Amino acid sequence: MNATPSRPITRLDHLARRQLIASEAIDALSPVIERFQLRVTDDIAGLIETADDPIARQFLPDRRELDIQPHELADPIGDAPHTPVRGITHRYPDRVLLKPTHLCQVYCRFCFRREKVGHGDENLSEAELDAALAYIAARPEIFEVILTGGDPLVLSDRRLGRILDGLEAIGHVGVVRLHTRVVTVDPGRITPMLVTTLRRRFATWVALHVNHVSELTEAATAALDRLVDGGIPLVSQTVLLNGVNDSAAALSDLMRGLVRRRVKPYYLHHLDFAEGTSHFRTSIAAGKALVDQLRGHMSGLAQPTYVLDIPGGHGKSPIEADWVERSDADLYRVRDWKGGTHTYRDPASPER
Ligand code: SF4
Repeated sequence: MNATPSRPITRLDHLARRQLIASEAIDALSPVIERFQLRVTDDIAGLIETADDPIARQFLPDRRELDIQPHELADPIGDAPHTPVRGITHRYPDRVLLKPTHLCQVYCRFCFRREKVGHGDENLSEAELDAALAYIAARPEIFEVILTGGDPLVLSDRRLGRILDGLEAIGHVGVVRLHTRVVTVDPGRITPMLVTTLRRRFATWVALHVNHVSELTEAATAALDRLVDGGIPLVSQTVLLNGVNDSAAALSDLMRGLVRRRVKPYYLHHLDFAEGTSHFRTSIAAGKALVDQLRGHMSGLAQPTYVLDIPGGHGKSPIEADWVERSDADLYRVRDWKGGTHTYRDPASPER
Protein backbone atom coordinates (compact mmCIF):
# COMPACT_ATOMS: atom_id res chain seq x y z
CA MET A 1 0.00 0.00 0.00
CA ASN A 2 1.31 3.42 -0.87
CA ALA A 3 1.10 5.58 2.25
CA THR A 4 3.13 8.40 0.66
CA PRO A 5 0.93 11.29 -0.48
CA SER A 6 0.96 11.65 -4.26
CA ARG A 7 2.69 14.80 -5.50
CA PRO A 8 0.20 17.43 -6.59
CA ILE A 9 0.59 19.51 -9.77
CA THR A 10 -0.17 23.17 -9.06
CA ARG A 11 1.50 24.89 -12.02
CA LEU A 12 0.61 25.11 -15.68
CA ASP A 13 4.18 24.42 -16.84
CA HIS A 14 4.09 21.17 -14.84
CA LEU A 15 0.84 20.22 -16.55
CA ALA A 16 2.55 20.95 -19.88
CA ARG A 17 5.59 18.90 -18.91
CA ARG A 18 3.29 15.96 -18.20
CA GLN A 19 1.70 16.66 -21.64
CA LEU A 20 -1.68 17.25 -20.02
CA ILE A 21 -1.94 20.65 -21.72
CA ALA A 22 -0.05 22.11 -24.68
CA SER A 23 2.84 24.47 -23.83
CA GLU A 24 1.21 27.04 -26.15
CA ALA A 25 -1.89 27.01 -23.89
CA ILE A 26 -0.05 28.24 -20.78
CA ASP A 27 -0.50 31.97 -21.46
CA ALA A 28 -4.18 31.57 -22.26
CA LEU A 29 -4.82 29.52 -19.12
CA SER A 30 -2.88 31.73 -16.70
CA PRO A 31 -5.83 34.05 -15.95
CA VAL A 32 -7.97 30.99 -15.22
CA ILE A 33 -5.71 29.68 -12.47
CA GLU A 34 -5.15 33.19 -11.12
CA ARG A 35 -8.89 33.26 -10.50
CA PHE A 36 -9.53 29.62 -9.53
CA GLN A 37 -6.98 27.31 -7.88
CA LEU A 38 -5.18 24.52 -9.74
CA ARG A 39 -4.22 21.27 -8.03
CA VAL A 40 -4.14 17.81 -9.59
CA THR A 41 -2.78 14.73 -7.81
CA ASP A 42 -0.46 12.28 -9.46
CA ASP A 43 -3.16 9.60 -9.20
CA ILE A 44 -5.58 11.80 -11.15
CA ALA A 45 -2.98 12.95 -13.70
CA GLY A 46 -2.30 9.29 -14.44
CA LEU A 47 -5.95 8.74 -15.40
CA ILE A 48 -6.09 11.49 -18.03
CA GLU A 49 -5.89 10.09 -21.55
CA THR A 50 -7.14 12.93 -23.71
CA ALA A 51 -7.62 16.65 -23.12
CA ASP A 52 -11.39 16.29 -23.20
CA ASP A 53 -12.00 13.02 -21.38
CA PRO A 54 -14.23 12.86 -18.27
CA ILE A 55 -11.27 13.15 -15.90
CA ALA A 56 -9.52 15.97 -17.78
CA ARG A 57 -12.74 17.99 -17.90
CA GLN A 58 -13.11 17.80 -14.11
CA PHE A 59 -9.58 18.83 -13.17
CA LEU A 60 -7.78 20.69 -15.99
CA PRO A 61 -8.36 24.45 -16.31
CA ASP A 62 -10.46 25.67 -19.22
CA ARG A 63 -10.74 29.17 -20.74
CA ARG A 64 -14.53 28.88 -20.49
CA GLU A 65 -14.20 29.32 -16.71
CA LEU A 66 -13.63 33.01 -17.35
CA ASP A 67 -17.12 33.28 -18.80
CA ILE A 68 -19.04 34.30 -15.65
CA GLN A 69 -22.79 34.32 -16.25
CA PRO A 70 -25.13 36.84 -14.57
CA HIS A 71 -26.93 34.12 -12.58
CA GLU A 72 -23.69 32.65 -11.21
CA LEU A 73 -22.78 33.39 -7.61
CA ALA A 74 -19.70 33.49 -5.37
CA ASP A 75 -21.69 31.68 -2.65
CA PRO A 76 -24.10 29.58 -4.73
CA ILE A 77 -25.68 27.52 -1.96
CA GLY A 78 -25.83 30.40 0.52
CA ASP A 79 -23.43 29.29 3.28
CA ALA A 80 -22.76 32.83 4.50
CA PRO A 81 -26.25 33.67 5.85
CA HIS A 82 -26.19 30.42 7.87
CA THR A 83 -22.79 30.89 9.50
CA PRO A 84 -23.34 31.74 13.18
CA VAL A 85 -19.65 31.25 14.08
CA ARG A 86 -16.63 30.82 11.83
CA GLY A 87 -16.43 27.27 10.44
CA ILE A 88 -20.07 26.34 11.17
CA THR A 89 -22.94 26.34 8.67
CA HIS A 90 -26.26 25.67 10.40
CA ARG A 91 -29.06 25.33 7.87
CA TYR A 92 -31.21 22.49 9.25
CA PRO A 93 -32.27 21.90 12.87
CA ASP A 94 -30.53 18.58 13.57
CA ARG A 95 -27.23 18.95 11.70
CA VAL A 96 -24.42 21.37 11.01
CA LEU A 97 -21.48 21.63 8.65
CA LEU A 98 -18.12 22.00 10.37
CA LYS A 99 -15.44 23.30 7.97
CA PRO A 100 -11.99 23.07 9.59
CA THR A 101 -10.10 23.70 6.34
CA HIS A 102 -10.69 25.03 2.86
CA LEU A 103 -7.79 23.10 1.36
CA CYS A 104 -8.32 20.10 -0.93
CA GLN A 105 -6.07 17.55 -2.60
CA VAL A 106 -7.54 18.56 -5.97
CA TYR A 107 -9.46 21.62 -7.12
CA CYS A 108 -12.46 20.57 -9.18
CA ARG A 109 -13.23 22.99 -12.01
CA PHE A 110 -16.95 23.07 -11.10
CA CYS A 111 -16.59 23.33 -7.30
CA PHE A 112 -19.53 25.04 -5.56
CA ARG A 113 -17.11 26.58 -3.05
CA ARG A 114 -14.48 27.53 -5.62
CA GLU A 115 -14.26 31.10 -4.34
CA LYS A 116 -13.29 29.77 -0.91
CA VAL A 117 -11.21 26.64 -1.47
CA GLY A 118 -7.44 26.72 -1.75
CA HIS A 119 -6.81 29.51 0.72
CA GLY A 120 -4.81 28.38 3.77
CA ASP A 121 -5.95 31.41 5.77
CA GLU A 122 -9.44 29.91 5.75
CA ASN A 123 -8.27 27.13 8.12
CA LEU A 124 -9.77 27.34 11.61
CA SER A 125 -7.39 28.40 14.37
CA GLU A 126 -7.45 26.51 17.69
CA ALA A 127 -9.60 29.22 19.26
CA GLU A 128 -12.01 29.19 16.30
CA LEU A 129 -12.27 25.39 16.45
CA ASP A 130 -13.01 25.59 20.18
CA ALA A 131 -15.74 28.17 19.47
CA ALA A 132 -17.24 25.94 16.74
CA LEU A 133 -17.25 22.92 19.09
CA ALA A 134 -18.79 25.04 21.85
CA TYR A 135 -21.56 26.08 19.43
CA ILE A 136 -22.37 22.39 18.79
CA ALA A 137 -22.09 21.46 22.48
CA ALA A 138 -24.60 24.16 23.43
CA ARG A 139 -27.28 22.78 21.08
CA PRO A 140 -28.59 19.33 22.05
CA GLU A 141 -30.72 19.21 18.90
CA ILE A 142 -27.57 18.76 16.77
CA PHE A 143 -27.40 15.01 16.08
CA GLU A 144 -25.15 14.99 13.00
CA VAL A 145 -21.99 16.93 12.20
CA ILE A 146 -20.78 17.03 8.61
CA LEU A 147 -17.05 17.63 8.32
CA THR A 148 -16.45 19.33 5.01
CA GLY A 149 -14.63 22.36 3.65
CA GLY A 150 -12.44 21.93 1.69
CA ASP A 151 -11.63 18.32 2.29
CA PRO A 152 -11.21 17.20 5.91
CA LEU A 153 -8.97 14.31 4.87
CA VAL A 154 -6.18 16.73 3.88
CA LEU A 155 -5.74 17.27 7.64
CA SER A 156 -3.15 15.21 9.49
CA ASP A 157 -4.37 12.28 11.59
CA ARG A 158 -3.40 14.30 14.63
CA ARG A 159 -5.49 17.35 13.66
CA LEU A 160 -8.43 15.20 12.58
CA GLY A 161 -8.12 13.23 15.83
CA ARG A 162 -8.25 16.47 17.82
CA ILE A 163 -11.48 17.49 16.05
CA LEU A 164 -13.07 14.07 16.45
CA ASP A 165 -12.04 13.98 20.14
CA GLY A 166 -13.82 17.30 20.58
CA LEU A 167 -16.97 15.95 18.92
CA GLU A 168 -16.80 12.70 20.86
CA ALA A 169 -16.97 14.68 24.09
CA ILE A 170 -20.36 16.09 23.02
CA GLY A 171 -22.82 13.41 24.09
CA HIS A 172 -25.67 14.38 21.75
CA VAL A 173 -23.59 13.99 18.55
CA GLY A 174 -24.65 10.63 17.13
CA VAL A 175 -23.19 10.78 13.62
CA VAL A 176 -20.17 12.47 12.04
CA ARG A 177 -20.04 12.44 8.27
CA LEU A 178 -16.87 13.32 6.36
CA HIS A 179 -17.24 14.66 2.83
CA THR A 180 -14.16 13.83 0.80
CA ARG A 181 -12.60 13.46 -2.62
CA VAL A 182 -9.40 12.02 -1.14
CA VAL A 183 -10.38 8.34 -1.34
CA THR A 184 -10.27 8.45 -5.13
CA VAL A 185 -7.77 11.26 -5.81
CA ASP A 186 -5.19 10.23 -3.20
CA PRO A 187 -6.07 6.68 -2.10
CA GLY A 188 -2.73 6.20 -0.29
CA ARG A 189 -4.01 8.66 2.34
CA ILE A 190 -6.49 6.03 3.55
CA THR A 191 -4.09 4.28 5.90
CA PRO A 192 -4.95 1.82 8.69
CA MET A 193 -4.01 4.60 11.15
CA LEU A 194 -6.55 6.95 9.55
CA VAL A 195 -9.26 4.28 9.77
CA THR A 196 -8.44 3.83 13.47
CA THR A 197 -8.63 7.62 13.93
CA LEU A 198 -12.10 7.67 12.36
CA ARG A 199 -13.61 4.91 14.53
CA ARG A 200 -15.43 6.53 17.42
CA ARG A 201 -18.25 6.30 19.94
CA PHE A 202 -20.52 7.91 17.33
CA ALA A 203 -21.06 6.45 13.88
CA THR A 204 -18.54 7.91 11.43
CA TRP A 205 -19.77 7.88 7.83
CA VAL A 206 -17.70 8.80 4.81
CA ALA A 207 -19.43 10.49 1.88
CA LEU A 208 -17.31 9.99 -1.18
CA HIS A 209 -17.40 12.57 -3.98
CA VAL A 210 -16.99 10.68 -7.27
CA ASN A 211 -18.29 11.53 -10.74
CA HIS A 212 -17.05 8.89 -13.17
CA VAL A 213 -16.46 5.15 -12.95
CA SER A 214 -12.86 5.54 -14.12
CA GLU A 215 -12.10 7.25 -10.78
CA LEU A 216 -12.75 3.87 -9.12
CA THR A 217 -9.25 2.57 -9.79
CA GLU A 218 -7.63 -0.46 -8.23
CA ALA A 219 -5.93 1.78 -5.64
CA ALA A 220 -9.22 3.60 -4.87
CA THR A 221 -10.99 0.24 -4.54
CA ALA A 222 -8.36 -0.93 -2.06
CA ALA A 223 -8.82 2.32 -0.09
CA LEU A 224 -12.59 1.78 -0.03
CA ASP A 225 -12.02 -1.77 1.20
CA ARG A 226 -9.85 -0.47 4.02
CA LEU A 227 -12.62 1.88 5.11
CA VAL A 228 -15.50 -0.59 4.82
CA ASP A 229 -13.54 -3.48 6.34
CA GLY A 230 -12.53 -1.10 9.13
CA GLY A 231 -16.19 -0.52 9.98
CA ILE A 232 -16.75 2.84 8.24
CA PRO A 233 -19.98 2.93 6.20
CA LEU A 234 -19.82 4.79 2.88
CA VAL A 235 -22.20 6.78 0.74
CA SER A 236 -21.47 8.68 -2.46
CA GLN A 237 -22.18 12.09 -3.93
CA THR A 238 -22.02 12.77 -7.64
CA VAL A 239 -22.44 16.05 -9.51
CA LEU A 240 -24.26 15.78 -12.83
CA LEU A 241 -21.79 17.28 -15.31
CA ASN A 242 -22.04 17.89 -19.02
CA GLY A 243 -19.37 15.90 -20.86
CA VAL A 244 -18.46 13.86 -17.78
CA ASN A 245 -21.41 11.72 -16.72
CA ASP A 246 -24.52 13.08 -18.49
CA SER A 247 -25.58 9.79 -20.05
CA ALA A 248 -27.53 6.84 -18.66
CA ALA A 249 -24.60 4.55 -19.44
CA ALA A 250 -22.07 6.71 -17.57
CA LEU A 251 -24.34 7.06 -14.54
CA SER A 252 -25.30 3.39 -14.37
CA ASP A 253 -21.64 2.30 -14.74
CA LEU A 254 -20.71 4.62 -11.88
CA MET A 255 -23.59 3.66 -9.57
CA ARG A 256 -23.07 -0.05 -10.16
CA GLY A 257 -19.34 0.40 -9.63
CA LEU A 258 -20.08 2.02 -6.29
CA VAL A 259 -22.56 -0.57 -5.06
CA ARG A 260 -20.17 -3.33 -6.11
CA ARG A 261 -17.57 -1.66 -3.83
CA ARG A 262 -20.05 -1.42 -0.93
CA VAL A 263 -20.76 2.29 -1.34
CA LYS A 264 -24.42 3.35 -1.33
CA PRO A 265 -25.14 6.05 -3.95
CA TYR A 266 -26.67 8.90 -1.94
CA TYR A 267 -26.99 12.13 -3.91
CA LEU A 268 -26.85 13.08 -7.57
CA HIS A 269 -26.47 16.87 -7.42
CA HIS A 270 -27.76 19.22 -10.05
CA LEU A 271 -24.91 21.67 -10.75
CA ASP A 272 -24.93 24.73 -8.48
CA PHE A 273 -24.58 28.28 -9.81
CA ALA A 274 -20.83 28.46 -9.14
CA GLU A 275 -18.96 31.06 -11.17
CA GLY A 276 -17.52 30.03 -14.53
CA THR A 277 -19.19 26.63 -14.68
CA SER A 278 -21.80 27.04 -17.43
CA HIS A 279 -19.96 24.62 -19.76
CA PHE A 280 -20.70 21.87 -17.20
CA ARG A 281 -24.41 22.66 -16.96
CA THR A 282 -27.24 20.30 -17.99
CA SER A 283 -30.91 21.25 -17.82
CA ILE A 284 -33.14 19.92 -15.05
CA ALA A 285 -35.34 18.33 -17.74
CA ALA A 286 -32.33 16.44 -19.13
CA GLY A 287 -31.32 15.37 -15.61
CA LYS A 288 -34.82 14.11 -14.85
CA ALA A 289 -34.90 12.16 -18.11
CA LEU A 290 -31.59 10.49 -17.20
CA VAL A 291 -32.77 9.56 -13.72
CA ASP A 292 -35.97 8.22 -15.29
CA GLN A 293 -33.93 5.96 -17.55
CA LEU A 294 -32.05 4.55 -14.57
CA ARG A 295 -35.25 3.67 -12.73
CA GLY A 296 -36.21 0.08 -13.49
CA HIS A 297 -32.85 -0.68 -15.09
CA MET A 298 -30.98 -0.64 -11.77
CA SER A 299 -32.09 -1.76 -8.33
CA GLY A 300 -33.06 0.78 -5.70
CA LEU A 301 -29.74 0.10 -4.01
CA ALA A 302 -27.95 1.76 -6.92
CA GLN A 303 -30.28 4.79 -7.21
CA PRO A 304 -29.11 8.13 -5.80
CA THR A 305 -31.58 10.92 -5.02
CA TYR A 306 -31.36 13.68 -7.64
CA VAL A 307 -31.29 16.98 -5.72
CA LEU A 308 -31.13 20.70 -6.25
CA ASP A 309 -29.58 23.06 -3.71
CA ILE A 310 -31.82 26.12 -3.77
CA PRO A 311 -29.67 29.23 -4.37
CA GLY A 312 -29.64 31.54 -1.36
CA GLY A 313 -29.16 28.86 1.29
CA HIS A 314 -32.69 27.42 1.43
CA GLY A 315 -31.43 23.83 1.44
CA LYS A 316 -31.83 20.80 -0.81
CA SER A 317 -34.95 19.74 -2.67
CA PRO A 318 -35.34 16.37 -4.38
CA ILE A 319 -36.00 16.70 -8.12
CA GLU A 320 -38.73 14.11 -8.12
CA ALA A 321 -40.05 12.34 -11.17
CA ASP A 322 -43.84 12.36 -11.43
CA TRP A 323 -44.41 8.63 -10.93
CA VAL A 324 -47.56 8.92 -8.82
CA GLU A 325 -50.08 11.71 -9.46
CA ARG A 326 -53.41 12.27 -7.84
CA SER A 327 -56.19 12.27 -10.44
CA ASP A 328 -59.25 12.31 -8.15
CA ALA A 329 -60.12 12.16 -4.44
CA ASP A 330 -58.81 8.63 -3.83
CA LEU A 331 -57.48 7.89 -7.33
CA TYR A 332 -53.89 8.06 -8.51
CA ARG A 333 -52.30 7.71 -11.91
CA VAL A 334 -49.16 5.58 -11.51
CA ARG A 335 -46.46 5.34 -14.16
CA ASP A 336 -44.36 2.17 -14.47
CA TRP A 337 -40.71 1.99 -15.51
CA LYS A 338 -41.62 1.11 -19.12
CA GLY A 339 -43.80 4.23 -19.46
CA GLY A 340 -47.18 2.49 -18.98
CA THR A 341 -49.81 4.15 -16.76
CA HIS A 342 -52.10 2.49 -14.24
CA THR A 343 -54.90 3.57 -11.97
CA TYR A 344 -54.50 3.00 -8.25
CA ARG A 345 -57.37 3.51 -5.82
CA ASP A 346 -56.10 4.26 -2.33
CA PRO A 347 -58.22 2.18 0.08
CA ALA A 348 -56.97 4.21 3.08
CA SER A 349 -57.83 7.60 1.54
CA PRO A 350 -60.05 9.72 3.88
CA GLU A 351 -62.01 10.86 0.79
CA ARG A 352 -63.08 7.33 -0.07
S1 SF4 B 1 -12.82 18.35 -3.49
FE1 SF4 B 1 -14.86 19.20 -3.03
S2 SF4 B 1 -14.49 21.15 -1.96
FE2 SF4 B 1 -12.55 20.53 -2.97
S3 SF4 B 1 -12.56 21.54 -4.97
FE3 SF4 B 1 -13.47 19.50 -5.29
S4 SF4 B 1 -15.69 19.84 -5.04
FE4 SF4 B 1 -14.63 21.62 -4.14
